[in-house]
Amino acid sequence: RTVYLNGEYLPETEAKVSIFDRSFLMADGVYEVTSVLGGKLIDFDGHLARLERSLNELDMEKPEAFDDLLDIHRKLVELNGIDEGMIYLQVSRGSAGDRDFVFPDPEETKPTLVLFTQNKPGLADNPVAKKGIKVISIEDIRWGRRDIKTVQLLYPSMGKMAAKKAGCDDAWLVEDGQVTEGTSNNAYIVKDGTIITRNLSQDILHGITRAAVLRFAREAQMQVEERPFTIAEAQAADEAFYTSASSFVMPVVEIDGTKVGDGKPGPVAKRLREIYLEESVKSGI
Ligand code: PMP
Repeated sequence: RTVYLNGEYLPETEAKVSIFDRSFLMADGVYEVTSVLGGKLIDFDGHLARLERSLNELDMEKPEAFDDLLDIHRKLVELNGIDEGMIYLQVSRGSAGDRDFVFPDPEETKPTLVLFTQNKPGLADNPVAKKGIKVISIEDIRWGRRDIKTVQLLYPSMGKMAAKKAGCDDAWLVEDGQVTEGTSNNAYIVKDGTIITRNLSQDILHGITRAAVLRFAREAQMQVEERPFTIAEAQAADEAFYTSASSFVMPVVEIDGTKVGDGKPGPVAKRLREIYLEESVKSGI
């Protein structure tokens, strides 16, 4: 694989980052994942805008190559021959050559910019989406700025491990009795034709796929309610699903061992997945 590091395209084994890099020592970095379908970038503008916002919220300098990010994404897709897959991008605050809690002076350091591709043939025609997935619920004990897409992913990793141990695929996170989101996705239920998903705030990541899916739902005259919901409400719903850049719209058929609806992917989730794939591929760049 050819990867990108600070202005250079390199074989992955030759891309090296300092041990003092703050993303390594302090999780002081932000990231984005953009999917690729038919060799085209999906929702690229949304991911770029959110990256800029994450950087601003953390007072992090934009990498010098910020304005070239579209070209860099495209070049990596081409160099690695990606038809279906993902591009991972990470910006860290860099390093001033030692460990220090205080942010280094921007004069003394430059952000570290890394991008690499992940080849995933069959991403759109994923058989898992035809069966649906099972989730468990766990307490949401993450920090209070989940709207910033940082690389502090230890608790989400632990959540996925807990799900795996329980024979499930993912975990939905619960705070004050209400679902915030999934470990790496936004959570939804459908009741009597209305799509319900938590409203945007600092409690959840503002999913780029969420924004697109809600727009398509409203354009298709579906009812949308943005508000928190409980696990009990989700278990009693007609359908459940989640969205993310790498899984698009994914039906959820079981929550904490209780089947949702008839335990099969529901019509709203299936339809939204179809619309999302069709529309986002059409507008891919
Ligand atoms: N919430 C969390 C916690 C996530 O990690 C992700 C995926 N990065 C999402 C939601 C979905 O966001 P997006 O649709 O932009 O991938």
